[in-house]
Amino acid sequence: MSKRGLAARILKNSGVLRALEMTGSKPGILVINHHRVGDASASRFDRDVFSASADAFDMQLKYFKRYFNVVAGEELEDLVSGRTPLRHTHIAVTFDDGYRNDYTTSFPVLKANNCRGTFFLVPEYVGTATIPWWDEIAYLVRNSPKQQITLQTPVPVTISLGGDREQAIRAVLRHYKRPDNHDSERLMNELREQAGCSLPATDRRFITWEEAREMQEAGMQIGSHTQTHGILGQMSAEKQEWELRESRSNIEANIGRPVRSLAYPVGIHGAFTETTEKIADSLGYTMCFSFYGGFNASVHMQPMNLLRMAANRDPLIFRLETALLSRFGRLPF
Ligand SMILES: [Zn+2]
Repeated sequence: MSKRGLAARILKNSGVLRALEMTGSKPGILVINHHRVGDASASRFDRDVFSASADAFDMQLKYFKRYFNVVAGEELEDLVSGRTPLRHTHIAVTFDDGYRNDYTTSFPVLKANNCRGTFFLVPEYVGTATIPWWDEIAYLVRNSPKQQITLQTPVPVTISLGGDREQAIRAVLRHYKRPDNHDSERLMNELREQAGCSLPATDRRFITWEEAREMQEAGMQIGSHTQTHGILGQMSAEKQEWELRESRSNIEANIGRPVRSLAYPVGIHGAFTETTEKIADSLGYTMCFSFYGGFNASVHMQPMNLLRMAANRDPLIFRLETALLSRFGRLPF
């Protein structure tokens, strides 16, 4: 068991976690991010993008509603901008990529709990059976008949396939996300050649515009996750501006509402830069989300870099992380 898992169990059994939950929360916004809600073990692709089962997601929302306000859209925008003063912790629930299960699983659970969420879409994926790079990497590395793969781009690396394939998948993903990877297509071609297996045919994997409109009419918020889901920090300023502008105009044309929020693809340090933040600001985005964890305290609010926490798959760790971030603004271990 992980250190945090063990701590969560000790704090729960000793009653400390419950006592913490009963104390007042800090003024700020805790943003929880999901990619896919559903059964990770059944996936042929990247299993790490599954953050909760449908039941676990339902429990998360019930937990939030017990202790916090769940906000989205203008209500969230007003809190971020300071137009509405923050007096305690508010929760925002976001989803990246626009996978089909946003519509089939997460949306019904949100509605049943009377909660609103924000969904970040990639126009190039909408309504398609695209297998994006992280899913393709996961599939190729898991199914390769080879014992090792060697890649040259952006720097030479050899990854053993002799041991745990899930670890090998993570190693290739880390390599792909390097800030000096300026030619991801070349890297993917090397991987395809080295892996020696091919991708399966799949049904549609991403939500349609019609589904996005229905979700929006039911109170959900739609934002941009860029046009192609490239990593912005690896791109020129011109290309970044195109990604932000093009995605927004495509989404606005299809959902008929202004788009002012953006989630940086990958969202870790280096996946976007100060230049990215300036471009987003100049284009009129009002809320841009990263993905390296943390709490948005009212005194340190950064609208162009709103911190998001990954929803932990262990329900008790999830509860501990939520309680600690909302009471202390950080995770002490
Ligand atoms: Zn993404």
